[in-house]
Amino acid sequence: MSKINDEVLPANNVYSADFGDKAKLPIPPGRRFAILTCMDARLDPAKFAGLSEGDAHVIRNAGGRASDDAIRSLVISYKLLGTQEWFVIHHTDCGMLTFTNEIMSDLLASSLKTSSVDKNGWHHCCPINT
Ligand SMILES: [Zn+2]
Repeated sequence: MSKINDEVLPANNVYSADFGDKAKLPIPPGRRFAILTCMDARLDPAKFAGLSEGDAHVIRNAGGRASDDAIRSLVISYKLLGTQEWFVIHHTDCGMLTFTNEIMSDLLASSLKTSSVDKNGWHHCCPINT
């Protein structure tokens, strides 16, 4: 088991043990809105939008793009689950602005290992988190 797994599973056990009546929340979001935003780990939609469990749908992907899958989720959110407003929220310093599809294609074509970035651009090198 990985170190992360050893951290996430106990945290989930604590969270689920404390879930209580939230298990009885209805499937449709109580505040009837959805947010499409970036997957950036520095963003916490619950905090920046003041959300609690059951409040809103949060759809995330790299860059908070209205991709086919994101649009599918938003359509389900509206048509089947009653959301009335959608927010598309981007942020400063988004990592998606650091590369192009061509750069990603070149990186993947030459190695499947994690790449790193510096002032000269993206390189095959060391894992980012070592
Ligand atoms: Zn981003």
